[in-house]
Amino acid sequence: MFCQCLLLTFWRILDRIKEAFYLFMLGHSERSEESKKERFFTSSRSCGISFRMTDEFMNFPETERKILKLWDKKKIFRKSITQRKKGRFFTFYDGPPFATGLPHYGHILATTIKDTITRFFAMRGFRVERRVGWDCHGLPVENLIEKELGIKSKKEIEKYGVKKFNQACQASVFRCVKDWEDTLRRVGRWADYSKTYTTMDRDYTESVWWAFKKLFEQGLVYKAWRVTPYCPRCGTPLSNFEMNQPGAHKDVEDISVYLKFPIKGETNNFFLAWTTTPWTLPANTALAVGENINYVKAKVGDEKYILARERLEEVLGKDYEIETEFLGGALIGREYEPLFPQRLEKQGYKVVAAPFVSTQDGSGIVHLAPAFGIEDMEVAQKENLPVLVTVEADGKIKKGLEIPGEGKFVKEAEEEIRLDLKKRKLLFKEEKIVHSYPFCWRCDTLLLYYPVDTWYIAVSKFKDELLKNNEQIHWVPEHLKHGRFGNWLEDARDWAVSRNRYWGAPLPIWICQKCGQTKVLGSFKELGKKIINFHRPHIDEIKLKCASCEGEMKRVEEVFDCWFESGAMPYAQWHYPFENKKLVEENFPADFIGEGVDQTRGWFYTLHVLAGALTLKDLGLGENKPAFKNVVANGLLLAEDGKKLSKKLRNYTPPEEIMEKFGADTLRFFLLTGTPVGDDQIISDKRIEETYRKTISTFWHSFVFLKTYIEKKFKPKKNFRPKNVLDCWAVSRLNDLAEKMTEKMEGYQLTDAGRLWGSFIDDLSNWYVRRSRRRLQKPKNSREKNEACQALYYILMNAARLGAPFIPFLSEEVYQGLKKTRMPESIHLCDYPEAQKDLINKNLEEKMAKIRELASLALAERAAKGIKIRQPLKELRIKNQPALGEPKARPGELSKDKELLELLKDEINVKEINFDETLKAEVWLDTKITKELKEEGLARELVRQIQEARKEAGLSKDDEISIAWRSASPVWEKIMEKWGSFIKEENLAQEIAPFSKDADYLLEKEIGLEEGKIKIGILKA
Ligand SMILES: [Zn+2]
Ligand SMILES: [Zn+2]
Repeated sequence: MFCQCLLLTFWRILDRIKEAFYLFMLGHSERSEESKKERFFTSSRSCGISFRMTDEFMNFPETERKILKLWDKKKIFRKSITQRKKGRFFTFYDGPPFATGLPHYGHILATTIKDTITRFFAMRGFRVERRVGWDCHGLPVENLIEKELGIKSKKEIEKYGVKKFNQACQASVFRCVKDWEDTLRRVGRWADYSKTYTTMDRDYTESVWWAFKKLFEQGLVYKAWRVTPYCPRCGTPLSNFEMNQPGAHKDVEDISVYLKFPIKGETNNFFLAWTTTPWTLPANTALAVGENINYVKAKVGDEKYILARERLEEVLGKDYEIETEFLGGALIGREYEPLFPQRLEKQGYKVVAAPFVSTQDGSGIVHLAPAFGIEDMEVAQKENLPVLVTVEADGKIKKGLEIPGEGKFVKEAEEEIRLDLKKRKLLFKEEKIVHSYPFCWRCDTLLLYYPVDTWYIAVSKFKDELLKNNEQIHWVPEHLKHGRFGNWLEDARDWAVSRNRYWGAPLPIWICQKCGQTKVLGSFKELGKKIINFHRPHIDEIKLKCASCEGEMKRVEEVFDCWFESGAMPYAQWHYPFENKKLVEENFPADFIGEGVDQTRGWFYTLHVLAGALTLKDLGLGENKPAFKNVVANGLLLAEDGKKLSKKLRNYTPPEEIMEKFGADTLRFFLLTGTPVGDDQIISDKRIEETYRKTISTFWHSFVFLKTYIEKKFKPKKNFRPKNVLDCWAVSRLNDLAEKMTEKMEGYQLTDAGRLWGSFIDDLSNWYVRRSRRRLQKPKNSREKNEACQALYYILMNAARLGAPFIPFLSEEVYQGLKKTRMPESIHLCDYPEAQKDLINKNLEEKMAKIRELASLALAERAAKGIKIRQPLKELRIKNQPALGEPKARPGELSKDKELLELLKDEINVKEINFDETLKAEVWLDTKITKELKEEGLARELVRQIQEARKEAGLSKDDEISIAWRSASPVWEKIMEKWGSFIKEENLAQEIAPFSKDADYLLEKEIGLEEGKIKIGILKA
């Protein structure tokens, strides 16, 4: 007995929690009464309650796979293009990814953006070709192969053989293509895999050559020996924008040193200079001072040092004596003894002025090694100083120059250099510092600044045009335009476009070995002979004859920076201008591109630079054009701990698992609406589940609801116009949604558009469907039911079409479930819904919002008092509502809206609604439960229990039943007497009667409520 009591109490508490949660969720209050097909509550895990799907009815991943097959079988993607033959072209450029690695969340987000936008414009009547491409060349591939072959340097590659090496690279590039295609396909991305282009295609490369020659002809290509960021392992320079790739800088601990440079002819007198890169000291050819900085000669013990006055205490401490003081200008031209004397070509080892010298750190005197610093080199050129290259191209100290640590990598040699200087008493002092240092973004080697012969594109020459062309671009998010991208353009530097590597499109430059004449080719035809493999080393074997001196011309060894190739894709993917001339020219620039925000310094930038250069004058592509008109840049995706997604740490659930659980539509919708596209977003399982629960599965259940009650012979009306107030409201909301979503999508505001849709689905499910339930389940007559079906059909069909670009699978499933013959065979062949503006009724929408607000206030009141929604109450009083849009109260404003008030009455389950000007609060709920109300509440509870029992007995809503009952409680006796026929009708039973001994009941069940037990039996009639 005790136990049972306890159990009962437990169930009651649980019930309360559920109830409270129901009410909190506002509107979900009658959910569990729904057919089994709808979601239900379970108490689960530690903290109580969560939603769960009844898996038996909807397996989203399974359905999605079924739809993929349907699309394939009926060639829907192809049809979505061919049916728009007469439509205007909508040009989309797909940024080619490397298929050497697997796609991750970032790719899925970008691909979802691309897919959603292109689906939308296709539904808007455009012809949207969707070609995909693969990036094949470049260091990412070379690094991968080097690792696999166990090769560590360029020397080893040459020993292995460039031919074999490049073959290995080529063989590897499509390694993950299958995985890519599978992932993209699984996410629902529509793309034409039969027409893919690759950057290593012969045709592609020919267009790259064409573009490069056009730049050369315009005087935009030059070669220079310049200090540039350089990877000693890869043996090639990096462009300035590669230095801005994520992960390109790291904080490292270094040792900085103060050095004594003996002043020529003055014993025991020194210049004190400072550096953080001691390995550059052997390359020193000058010292730099600031012309207007104050310097002193200070005495410490027997020695005298020259340094900036402001740095005195920092460097020397307290024990010094100032001997003289002067401006830096006075030091210019003074000579010193080098620390590691080298043979110089011109005069060096002297003091010069440099604008970048400051007294922020160091000693105010800077050691210059022109070969290893961009600024150093600039000063050297201005002052005509010698340049010493004391390091080999592989980053090792040159041998034979009497440099300590020769033959070792610079950072390793530093130790020996320091010890040597210490021994010779030329090292004044050393300190540890932590500073940010660049690393190769591909192979993670410490980068050097190193002088190399590099081919440049003179971006600075047409920077103004690039800035102007940027004004024609619509950026999402907008701040990128004049922020990250605009600022980057302002500072645009010349682009180091050649790489001293192997696996890449070869530079089409031949140089005469006799007279130095340069020739740039713009097509393979200009080679004068057929070539089967245009990659290195084959292309290097082709020699041309010099036009001016008949000497032999050889190709330069370099290949293209692979970013040049991806930037050339608008032309190269179509083999322009050799083929498809009209197609490319008519559709340039692209209407839309989309990638991650890091591409502002990658692909977006190189596309923009090349388009800018190729439209400086009209070559057929127009004049002064950007490469794209609209761009959506997505932010980074992060793990829940705020860190980067890391496979090693496994700090996130892989996308495949998420899709297996909630479906691709859920992931898509979450990625697009969870955070504004462009902001960094956290991959949170909880929030993904919430998206599933609040939007995806909610939409699905609204559809299931209609399917459950709609008749087979139902025919949708062509020009449906709603009459019922609830229908009018929902139809108004829907058309308003169509108008707003179209506007947002045309502005590429995906997040806004998606969120609008989500909030409509919320209204649809949590208000419209719930309040329409009775009309479908227990209609007064067939006309009422048909009207309700017409309305819900119209709403669901249009909501599915509006949502189709976002959730291509579920929208298709809903469409297939509702479509009638003579409608397009797929939702993705439908037009995007046009708003029927005459059906928008703003006034009604505002009033309905007020009704819902009142309902939630009243329900909160119930929740606070712990009164179940099934318990009817007597009265709700509402303070007189001010007319909408008017500040002053107008008595009884809502009181005229009888239909709306009926909705409110039903929603909160009260007998009457009255208006009262004297109320303090907005509403007042009469929570007194009279005996009669109590009985009615119990009767309603019993109705629900019988419905449950009916389901337990395995009966459907169409099965006819009889109900039997028995109770020892006088309360139930009375209730059955008074409410028996109500219970019978509500349960669509043929009969309700006391238990009979003879009958064989399908199910018998004892129901214990507060007022005593009642036993019911169900009999199939
Ligand atoms: Zn590298
Ligand atoms: Zn020549």
